[in-house]
Amino acid sequence: MKLLETFRIRAAAAVRRRKARYGLGEKPARLEIRLDGFDAPGPVTAEALRVDQWQDRIVEAIQWIGPVPLRITAAADHAFLPDLVRFGHRLEMPVTVRTNPEPLSVERAEELVDRGMATCEVVTTLDGAGEAAIRALVHARHSRAATLTVVVHFPVTAATAAGARAVFDKARGLGADGVVLAAPWRGFAVNAAAKEGIAEALAQGWPLQRTAAEARAVLGSLAEGGPGVRRTSGQCALGGLRLALGPDGAASVCPFHVGHHSGPLVDAPSALAAHRAAVRSCDRRCGHPELV
Ligand code: SF4
Repeated sequence: MKLLETFRIRAAAAVRRRKARYGLGEKPARLEIRLDGFDAPGPVTAEALRVDQWQDRIVEAIQWIGPVPLRITAAADHAFLPDLVRFGHRLEMPVTVRTNPEPLSVERAEELVDRGMATCEVVTTLDGAGEAAIRALVHARHSRAATLTVVVHFPVTAATAAGARAVFDKARGLGADGVVLAAPWRGFAVNAAAKEGIAEALAQGWPLQRTAAEARAVLGSLAEGGPGVRRTSGQCALGGLRLALGPDGAASVCPFHVGHHSGPLVDAPSALAAHRAAVRSCDRRCGHPELV
């Protein structure tokens, strides 16, 4: 029964995403909560919520948009992570955790699987700690006989781009299910070796390639300025895709636009309407997987 409900929620989110791409639909297709400054686009200065406040905030979001896939972004040793994974899982939301490799031991991986984590995205270049984290997750998947999806979230930077292709072979050997090439939040110039590494990595296909089409387009044009340069055509459909809650619980659609909403989420449809309109008319070109 739970599997059926999870499938239904994923299917409904896919329909909403599709509608948003055509400017239709008003409700976000997924909920993203960020517990700390890990993998954030900028410094986090606001006071973080307590775990009970997070639970209230998630319930508020569900009351507005209904059950949707939930992604929790936090350091692997964040104290609230297991409780919030279980909370989302009990509310039938397919839970993805995006986290860092350093504290992700076998015990922590098994704990998160036991709490209901469906997908784990590890932000790593697959160095020593990254390899260990992927091994820990694959071990937890076997030891718990779970259907955990393990994804390598590879941050493409000036320093890592040349080695992007090799990450696919490593990920395959470690038993990961996919690799997401994560375009940077903000642009940087790349040299010829980096461009070649990115091109080879983008040429990787199914089943490991999990990079969104929008991120692929941005990564393929990093030499021209990358994320942050102006688009000359098309629009950002993000306004209909995601509702993000920062560490202080403030709601937003895009982290780069003003209009964050700190009040009750039942008021969010009107409070975030202008924000969503700004997002829809934005002509920046973004490709970070969290945004597309
Ligand atoms: S900055 Fe603009 S293009 Fe980028 S995610 Fe936000 S709204 Fe979309």
